[in-house]
Amino acid sequence: MKWEENVRRTVPYTAGEQPRRAGVIKLNTNESPYPPAPGVERALAALDAGQMRLYPAFPEQTELAEALAAYYGIGTDRLFIGVGSDDVLCQAFMTFFNSDRPILFPDITYSFYDVWADLYRIPYRRQPLDEAFRIRREDYIEAKSGIRCGGIVFPNPNAPTGVLMPLDGVEEIVAANRDVVVIVDEAYIDFGGTSCLELIDRYDNLLVVQTFSKSRAMAGMRIGYAMGAPKLIGYLNDVKYSVNSYTMNYAALQLGAASVKDAGYFRTCCERIVRTREHAKKELAGLGFTFPDSYANFLFVSHKRVPAKEIFERLKENDIYVRHWDKERIENYLRITIGTDEQMQALYAALEKICG
Ligand SMILES: *Cc1c(COP(=O)(O)O)cnc(C)c1O
Repeated sequence: MKWEENVRRTVPYTAGEQPRRAGVIKLNTNESPYPPAPGVERALAALDAGQMRLYPAFPEQTELAEALAAYYGIGTDRLFIGVGSDDVLCQAFMTFFNSDRPILFPDITYSFYDVWADLYRIPYRRQPLDEAFRIRREDYIEAKSGIRCGGIVFPNPNAPTGVLMPLDGVEEIVAANRDVVVIVDEAYIDFGGTSCLELIDRYDNLLVVQTFSKSRAMAGMRIGYAMGAPKLIGYLNDVKYSVNSYTMNYAALQLGAASVKDAGYFRTCCERIVRTREHAKKELAGLGFTFPDSYANFLFVSHKRVPAKEIFERLKENDIYVRHWDKERIENYLRITIGTDEQMQALYAALEKICG
């Protein structure tokens, strides 16, 4: 068709499968195995259908913004809220990555980054992780790499590897790139890592992005946020209000606030997942798996004998879903989300049969 010449063609991100059948053990998309905070259920019961007649409040003027600002000890002028961190990241790409120079991200990382870069025609370069799947900081510092970039984005801990970069590494990269924006995607920071949030007062080129989808057990409500210097946040809001004034819905704003207010429940759930993860490291090592040390709510594992693809298929036959990518360097790895202790026991038993 002639009109196809004018289509903005793009290859979309492929998300993990969402099987809806009962009885499936779903360890493939890093959701929380625990319910959201009890206060969220109460807030849900208290939702007022009459409110839906009205456009929702602007996110930065809501109880959700106030709760997040209080939780992190920052002003609401340092906070941007969006429809999941995918929305936040996508808008940040559009806002900050407008240079002819390539943006930089790791070769093994969240596979949405190249999708957004292609969508907005942002040039990019993938910097290889080292053999232990660590980000090589020198690859992001012009004086060492010789690459002058238009911006930087990486998850910390990285996904799908789970490898954490210590705070001094993050700071070194941010400090060496004051002329561009550095986005640190902290989707998994609540599972034992140290957030680089404390750096936003010193570095106005740092944007820290977090989400309710993993540690807050609210992937279905689609809430994400970014924190940074007021100037950065202002530019993000300008772009957001040039696309859609009302991205967040009334229910998400109410329920998100209820989640943040229950800090105790949040900490308990994160600790429980970390405990299960540390135990899983022992079990999986015993079954012949190797993996980088993970600080996230998943493990990135490879078996010394059985190919990852085969394990993936056999687990699926047993109604256990994990994630596998047919991609260079990682085709022999599986990413396994940490579930409840009971789900993990079922996983170990199935793996014992497959790999034993
Ligand atoms: C899950 C994930 C996100 C996005 O999650 P949302 O549900 O859109 O908040 C962003 N970055 C990484 C690295 C993730 O794993």
